[in-house]
Amino acid sequence: MPAKVENFIKQAILIGGKWVEADSGETIDVINPATGETIGTIPNAGREETRRAIETAQNSFETFRKTSALERAQLLRKMHDVIIENQESLAEILSMEQGKSLVEARGEVGMSAAYVLWYAEEARRTYGDVVPSPWADRKILVTKEPLGVVAAITPWNFPSSMLARKIAPAIAAGCSVVVKPATQTPYSGIAWGVIAEMAGIPSGVVNVLTGSASQIGGEMTKNPLVRKITFTGSTEVGKLLIKQAAGTVKKISMELGGNAPFIIFDDADIERAVEGAIAAKYRNSGQTCVCTNRFLAQSRIYNRFVDRLAEESEKLIVGNGQEQGTQQGPLIDENAILSVESMIEDATKKGGRIVTGGKRHKLGGTFFEPTVIANAKSNMRFTREEIFGPIAPVYRFKSEEEAIEMANNTEFGLASYFYTQDLGRAFRVMQELKYGLVGVNEGIITTVEAPFGGLKESGLGKEGGHQGIEDYLDTKYVCIGGLGM
Ligand code: ADP
Repeated sequence: MPAKVENFIKQAILIGGKWVEADSGETIDVINPATGETIGTIPNAGREETRRAIETAQNSFETFRKTSALERAQLLRKMHDVIIENQESLAEILSMEQGKSLVEARGEVGMSAAYVLWYAEEARRTYGDVVPSPWADRKILVTKEPLGVVAAITPWNFPSSMLARKIAPAIAAGCSVVVKPATQTPYSGIAWGVIAEMAGIPSGVVNVLTGSASQIGGEMTKNPLVRKITFTGSTEVGKLLIKQAAGTVKKISMELGGNAPFIIFDDADIERAVEGAIAAKYRNSGQTCVCTNRFLAQSRIYNRFVDRLAEESEKLIVGNGQEQGTQQGPLIDENAILSVESMIEDATKKGGRIVTGGKRHKLGGTFFEPTVIANAKSNMRFTREEIFGPIAPVYRFKSEEEAIEMANNTEFGLASYFYTQDLGRAFRVMQELKYGLVGVNEGIITTVEAPFGGLKESGLGKEGGHQGIEDYLDTKYVCIGGLGM
């Protein structure tokens, strides 16, 4: 029988199979962004609790690394089933603390389950090699082994699935993990501890901490027992973690910010492009690293695209994510609103035209109107900065070369999208885009089977696909000599 919502909302951290409070006894409130109400509290843990969690994870690793790939695959299958059986409760918690609609929350939890199932399957395929040897009497083996304790830090925009991409490959590889979910959305992270217990994952393999980001992150990056840091979040914090981890030369995976271009060529199927644009812009109220930051529309199609995008943006139903029919929830907090407002002000001062939206939603709180801005120019802030909110600026371009130049003119390189019906152009543009993810005539492309990861300052490493487990494995070369052959 599925567990109740309350079973997942533990107001405690998980260290070595025990749910405990912070050493100081201090707590932090968790707020529902749609209502402003307090859902509960979480422990405000710091350096000391983190050190203990890492040590217990190391002890558990010593046993867990010796389990067979088949055993780990079976554990992950159980984990998958627990998530599916409790999808509704987990979605409710996610929507309550994060704000996204129940439809999106269910989708995210489904995606978490899909990652776990994928890595249940990949667990058994971490093949090594037997390499043809240059010596007659020696053999060359290449083996893959779990690398040890993994520390994971995740953001508030996908509080469930961002952990799935890290916990599932870690378990599949035979590693143990210490995770720190974002303070705004901790219960979806804490739920992973409960899920692990329900699935029978040995205690100490999954540890969950909440509290001071700088203290927990500081210990995770400094402690030599941690062999890998995996982070999803802002580029600023990612760079800091890379620096901190340099002291003990850890393996690093980073999923950082983006500045996704969405190019609509004159020959595009405009209705398909608008449908993709709505999904790629307003998903999670624009608060994802793969959300479109800049729409680039070719001159001939420009006005029509702007008009149709505005029409469809106006149709979006804004409201409490937990209410039936809501398509767009609130932004995460007041700071997010202030940031969106200042970008709109900057754009209008510089000649941007608000076609629809542009202000706080009449529902109040942190609800914001889906906004389309025409006449976007390169000197506006959102040309360079990640918006992370429901603003759709539309830039104009004349030629294919100009579009590619504009699209690549950023230090980021995560997601990109373009719409064309010309096959030659599709291949040319696909090759030229300096991005880790390219959607051609598609606005939502993430799936567990494919490697997700940015280029340039958007990140290091891949999550998902068969590539996603590699970062949790050490590669060892073994030379066996004296074989008398
Ligand atoms: P966002 O802007 O999406 O909140 P952040 O990078 O600030 O992105 O947050 C992502 C995650 O990184 C969160 O779990 C946050 O608590 C954590 N974090 C923030 N600052 C630090 C830090 N100095 N060290 C380690 N983790 C941090």
